[in-house]
Amino acid sequence: MTTTPNEHASPAAKPRHFLHAIIDEHNKTGRFGNRVHTRFPPEPNGYLHIGHAKSICLNYGLAAEYGGKFNLRFDDTNPSKEEIEYVNAIKDDVLWLGARYDEGPHAGGVFWASDYFETMYEYAVELVKKGKAYVCDLTGEEVSKLRGTPSVPAQSPHRDRPAAESLDLLEKMRKGEFPNGAKTLRAKIDLASPNFNLRDPVMYRIVHAAHHNTGTKWCIYPMYDWAHGTEDSLEGITHSICTLEFENHRPLYDWFINAINEGRTDDGSGPWGKKIHHPQQIEFARLNLNHTVMSKRFLLKLVQEKRVTGWDDPRMPTIRGLRRRGYTPESIRAFCEDVGVTRQNSVIDIGRLENACRDHLNKVAPRAMAVLRPLKVVIDNWPAGKVDMLDFVINPEDEGAGKRQIPFSGTLYIEHDDFMENPPKKFFRLAPGNEVRLRWAYFVTCTSVEKDVAGNITTVHCTYDPDTRGGDAPPGPDGKPSRKVKGTIHWVSAEHAADAEVRLFDRLFKTEEPGGDTGDYMADLNDNSLEVLTAKVDPHLATLPAGEHVQFERLGYFYTDPDSKPGKPVFNRTVTLKDTWAKEAGKG
Ligand code: ATP
Ligand code: MG
Repeated sequence: MTTTPNEHASPAAKPRHFLHAIIDEHNKTGRFGNRVHTRFPPEPNGYLHIGHAKSICLNYGLAAEYGGKFNLRFDDTNPSKEEIEYVNAIKDDVLWLGARYDEGPHAGGVFWASDYFETMYEYAVELVKKGKAYVCDLTGEEVSKLRGTPSVPAQSPHRDRPAAESLDLLEKMRKGEFPNGAKTLRAKIDLASPNFNLRDPVMYRIVHAAHHNTGTKWCIYPMYDWAHGTEDSLEGITHSICTLEFENHRPLYDWFINAINEGRTDDGSGPWGKKIHHPQQIEFARLNLNHTVMSKRFLLKLVQEKRVTGWDDPRMPTIRGLRRRGYTPESIRAFCEDVGVTRQNSVIDIGRLENACRDHLNKVAPRAMAVLRPLKVVIDNWPAGKVDMLDFVINPEDEGAGKRQIPFSGTLYIEHDDFMENPPKKFFRLAPGNEVRLRWAYFVTCTSVEKDVAGNITTVHCTYDPDTRGGDAPPGPDGKPSRKVKGTIHWVSAEHAADAEVRLFDRLFKTEEPGGDTGDYMADLNDNSLEVLTAKVDPHLATLPAGEHVQFERLGYFYTDPDSKPGKPVFNRTVTLKDTWAKEAGKG
């Protein structure tokens, strides 16, 4: 691998991968005149998922690193499946990730494959005239039947049809004189090729369907391989980055461009005119995550069968879902960088995505206290009616965030599982006779419990030590804290706390590889992937608008859902905290 630093490369030490080496080499040889122009080419047939994010970050990242350009191109060559709803969501999600195709130094613009239909057609006519394409009368089924085997060549009865006849038929195809599937235009390459993609692949098929952009102007639509390279070429894309499944399509990608260029010249002299630009296709390993499915087709089924609330369900691996759950663009970009770019297919643990999210939210999310499963605590020696306003550090990772005052009173809520009447040995939280620290507040010792007739604990009684205000033991004669408590638990003041809906999420699929055993991913859905609770939360949380991040201490990072109403917040748990904090707080 070459490691020559590029003059445009950003000084920040970004991880380098094989694509850098390829681009550096091109820059050295001057293949693209030091230009780097990438694109993200989604088919607008669904919402984007985390796999697409990987491609967006990679393509935009390279354009930015090399001072190049980045295009968003809608690969709208399939009339029946595409919807404007998807187009708008894709545009928005790409911007949200920070890939600025619209403005800024790397903006290349928005493009539509359908805008090139006329030019593509002209190229196709040219290939027919050059004897490199022909109209075939076989149906799709017949083509498959005659495709041969590795040792037996395919058969194609119309490949020697005179160019004039093919031209006439192609024009009639375009004019709508044939029904769907009656004819195709095929490239004349090699019926015996060991690479089946080269056994006279179809370039155009007949589909009588309205297109969202071109209406009913066209009834023949280009196939992916034919369309993609010409789109890249017309946009001046230098590096056409795609996933590994397309590796054995690369010879076809190059064949089409070379076929157009045959007989063309650099200065445009001669009958066919000027050579067209020839981009370099490069493949990398797609992102696969465990415990999820990523194909848009599969995700659509989850939506259609109402197994999730929509494309933006916070359990979905879609960008929309991740956004609603509280993921940040920074965390997704960091994740993509962390998993790197390789040519080795692998499955990434979803925990790495969660870690990237924790890392970012740890830096930016203000802290607050909330109790998900409330248990009442009464402090018997607390002065009746007294409210103490205590200092709460908003974010220990961010000094500038400052402090907030939180109310403490004689009746509190703590987390149900922070209390045990008959605790095992290493339980350092609240238990009869045990002293714990209430975070930012006081030390309290449990004196007794109240139960209902069924024996459930309804109230825990405690006494507090007024000398521990702020949560520190008073100094002993040697100046050090006079005593230690092992456990710290969170709490809210009962009379001040607000109610909030909290949505906790678990993996959408029970198994690491959904459908891996049975082939039916739907059967591996986790029926308990959503839990909805009414929590008691710090009063200021009730006023949060939708779209805010907050860490509930000891419980995780949360995000206010669009369903939030003034005074009635709804919190999605984005991700739990690291185990280390749980340990620190005496959970272990
Ligand atoms: P899906 O199979 O999920 O529908 P797709 O590949 O059909 O995905 P497109 O809209 O055609 O979706 O893809 C747009 C771009 O995103 C392509 O360049 C494709 O290579 C890339 N892409 C899609 N899925 C992944 C993935 N899991 N990892 C990396 N890149 C991906
Ligand atoms: Mg696709």
